[in-house]
Amino acid sequence: VAEAPAAPAAGAKPRALKKESLHVLRKLTLEDVPAEAIRAQAEELRKEQVKGEPAQPRKSTKDLSHTAARSNQEQIKRKEGVVELPSQLSVKEFAEKTGVQVPKIIQVLMGSGIMATINQTIDYETAAIVADELGVSVKKAEASVKAEDIFSRNIEELLKDEPENLQVRAPVVVIMGHVDHGKTSILDAIRETDVAGGEAGGITQHIGAYQIVHTPKGSSEHHPITFLDTPGHEAFTAMRARGAQVTDIAVIVVAADEGIKPTTVEAINHAKEAGVPIIAAINKIDKTGADPDRVKGELASHELQPEEWGGKVPVVLVSAKTKQGIEDLLDAIVIIAETENLRANPKRNAVATVIESHLDKSLGSLGSVIVNTGTLHTGDIFVCGETMGRIRTLTDAHGVKIADVPPSAPVRISGFDDVPSVGDILQVVASEAEARVLLDAVRERGQLQKKRSFVDLVSRLSEGKLTQLKVVLKADSQGSLEAIQGSLAKITGEAVGVKVIHAAIGAVSDSDVMMAAASDGIVVAFHVAVPVEVKRTADQEGVKVREYDVVYALLDDIDALVKGLVEAEEEESVTGHLEVKAIFLTKKNQQIVGGRVTDGVVKRLPFRLMRASAEVGTGRISSLKHVDKDIKEAKEGTECGMRVESTTPILEGDILEVYVKEFKKKAE
Ligand code: GDP
Repeated sequence: VAEAPAAPAAGAKPRALKKESLHVLRKLTLEDVPAEAIRAQAEELRKEQVKGEPAQPRKSTKDLSHTAARSNQEQIKRKEGVVELPSQLSVKEFAEKTGVQVPKIIQVLMGSGIMATINQTIDYETAAIVADELGVSVKKAEASVKAEDIFSRNIEELLKDEPENLQVRAPVVVIMGHVDHGKTSILDAIRETDVAGGEAGGITQHIGAYQIVHTPKGSSEHHPITFLDTPGHEAFTAMRARGAQVTDIAVIVVAADEGIKPTTVEAINHAKEAGVPIIAAINKIDKTGADPDRVKGELASHELQPEEWGGKVPVVLVSAKTKQGIEDLLDAIVIIAETENLRANPKRNAVATVIESHLDKSLGSLGSVIVNTGTLHTGDIFVCGETMGRIRTLTDAHGVKIADVPPSAPVRISGFDDVPSVGDILQVVASEAEARVLLDAVRERGQLQKKRSFVDLVSRLSEGKLTQLKVVLKADSQGSLEAIQGSLAKITGEAVGVKVIHAAIGAVSDSDVMMAAASDGIVVAFHVAVPVEVKRTADQEGVKVREYDVVYALLDDIDALVKGLVEAEEEESVTGHLEVKAIFLTKKNQQIVGGRVTDGVVKRLPFRLMRASAEVGTGRISSLKHVDKDIKEAKEGTECGMRVESTTPILEGDILEVYVKEFKKKAE
């Protein structure tokens, strides 16, 4: 039995369907009307526009002459002057805006090979051609809200409000720290303290954050607190890299028996860079071997001086297991929140930040947000990142459907046209038309913005608009790390300094790239690998990752950058070639090969893998040996063995073209 074609899914999104059908429409147009004819028509149109003459009916393969039969009456009803149209609009909206009757529009569309119904969405380009055909002058509407305002980087602009409109809002807290130190357990323990939440009934939903109400001991005041329930700094930094500002307080968790670990340092640096106040939670104090005092000492040595030692950082001893100290942690959060004076205006259109998103088979695109300011209502129309929508449902972390969401509260939204990205800013707008206009501007800008960031950085440096070049530094040993960090700190331009925002041993990671992205900085890698997927992240985020092999070259380069003496583009120069003579080991992305330098020198640098004069892959030489002695470089005519990182298996006879990337110095 032949299967019947699948029926459209129940609750399918009308707007998504429209988009699809538009796509089909475009195809139809092209298939039904010979391409030549379309082109000729467009060309004719353009010529007429240039001449400033009204469009004349024209003949084409599909006879369009019927559209020429315009009665004078119709002309009168049409709008005078230039009509503004959004980037996309329905046939109905088009009719309302231009004063032309729907059947007439459909007729013209049909004449152009587009089968449209009254609710069909057409894009501006199509609308403009139809309008011209009908003798209506149109232009593309500009957004009433500035596109740059929606840009996350200007969220401050979006959140601005008159002081008299502002009311206290709940703090939004992120929990960060080393793996297994108890972040998740603390989040669970806090969730369990929320009696009111438990009584609400619903099933706990992980929507990316939850809110509890805390009543400090001996107080009758109820304080709502929002916790991001994706622990760790990855999500936090990804959001910051998008320019989002959603967290007010960072709780750094350190296990009392293990103390500060590399990821703890990373988390501390992320929080410091974000400028959010830190609370230290020393966890697992129930364990034998717990040594909270030692941890306090370690915190102090990372510039987190405990309050009890005269510093600024509240340190709370907790056990997620026995729940000891959890109330104290919440008290500390309430106190910090009060000193931070967190405020928002609940009586305006909402601005919110996406903290999680995914595509659900039955519910469509879902996104969880935390409201920054305003109140979010069901039915609100919004623009969010590069998508838009209308709020169909709002669901809280108890799985309960709610109608309104106040500032600082987390909620899951259904009603997005497309899945939004984490860190995207959601902004409620007045109408669908405004949303479309705004979205257009955002899309245009978004693309430009992503591609330009390093160029921007360089120009801001040379124009003296930046006072600090922020650097995430990765190196192969503690020794080189400290030496480079020390030397970098001494580099200064006229008004620019270098600030190392994070320094650690090991390969460059996504987290490093995101940190640089969030802080408008660069990543400097000394003698360490930059995995392919990390390079991809860096490209996407517009972050420059600079690799170096020699300290003075690194310092020279950064010096030139800080002094505004470099061009934004980099230059590649080939240092030498090596012919592969033997393969000793091939393992995932690590290989050991031997070969002879055919020209120049070969060092621990990136290379292009050449086979029969074609590039077949890339990689990096991570160590060099001559017989069994480590060497820094191999000169022309010598043989060497090397450990190589490359995802492409190397074969005998391949050529490694070894190169360095350098900033292009400005011509004097
Ligand atoms: P995360 O990776 O930081 O989220 O850490 P988890 O919350 O998953 O905790 C890691 C392990 O430590 C788990 O086995 C927890 O049961 C355990 N753990 C967490 N907090 C405590 C605590 O306060 N005391 C003890 N004894 N174990 C804990």
